[in-house]
Amino acid sequence: MRLSDACAQGTQRIGVLGGTFDPIHIGHLVVADNALQQLALDTILFAPAGQPPHKPDRAISSATDRKAMIEIAIAGRPEFARSDIDIDREGPSFTVDLLRRIDETFSPAALFFVMGADSLRDFSTWSRPESILQIARIAVARRPGAIIDDHVMSSVPGLAERLHLLDSPLSHISSTDLRARVRRGQTIRYLLPQGVHDYIDAKYLYRAERPAPT
Ligand code: ATP
Repeated sequence: MRLSDACAQGTQRIGVLGGTFDPIHIGHLVVADNALQQLALDTILFAPAGQPPHKPDRAISSATDRKAMIEIAIAGRPEFARSDIDIDREGPSFTVDLLRRIDETFSPAALFFVMGADSLRDFSTWSRPESILQIARIAVARRPGAIIDDHVMSSVPGLAERLHLLDSPLSHISSTDLRARVRRGQTIRYLLPQGVHDYIDAKYLYRAERPAPT
C-alpha cells in the first residue's frame, strides 16, 4: 500500500520503522508485526533512509533496489506500507525530519517510531532526540547484544515516559550479516522473504563480484 492510500484511509495510529533496509529481512517484519498488534496500530510505514548519517562509511545499495525489496517484502499485507518521504529527498536523513513530514501528512495521527534496542542505545546521539519525543512515542524491540538499562533510559529527558517495550521474539538476523553471508557465498534463504531472496540473486546484490558475461 502506498502512503497516499494510507492517508485516504484516515489512519490514526501509525508506526514508523525507519532504517537502511539493505536488505529488509525477517527481523524487521517480525518487529513490525508485533508493534502493529501490541500498539493496536492501523499501519506500519517502512521508511527507508536516503543517506543514513550514521552509516557514511559504506556504500549503500541504490534507492531503487532497497525500495523494490521493501515492496516485495510487504506485498499482500495491507497494514504495511512503504514511505518514500525520506529516501526521495536529497542530503542526509534525520529521523526528526522524517517524523515531522509524516506528522504533517497524517495529522492528527498518533505516531510511534519503532526501533531495535541497538538504535535506542544510540538515540541520544541522533539529531534533536527531544523533538523526536514530542512528535512520536518510541516502541523498542529487544535485540541480541543491545541492553536497555537505566543509562539508556535516562539518556534523553522524557524518553522513559514515551517508551513502549515490545514483546517481540529475539532475532539475531541483521542486514550486515546477510550482506556478509552473500559475499561469502553462504545461503540466506529463510532469513528474508523468498521474493527478496530471489531479487538479491537476480540483481547480484552484495556479491564480491558480478559473474563475467558469457
Ligand atoms: P545493518 O546491519 O545494516 O545495520 P539492520 O539489520 O540493523 O541493518 P536497519 O535497516 O538498519 O537493519 O534497521 C532498521 C530498524 O530495525 C532499526 O531500528 C533496527 O534496530 C531494527 N532491527 C533490525 N533488525 C532487527 C532485529 N533482528 N531485531 C530487532 N530490531 C531489528
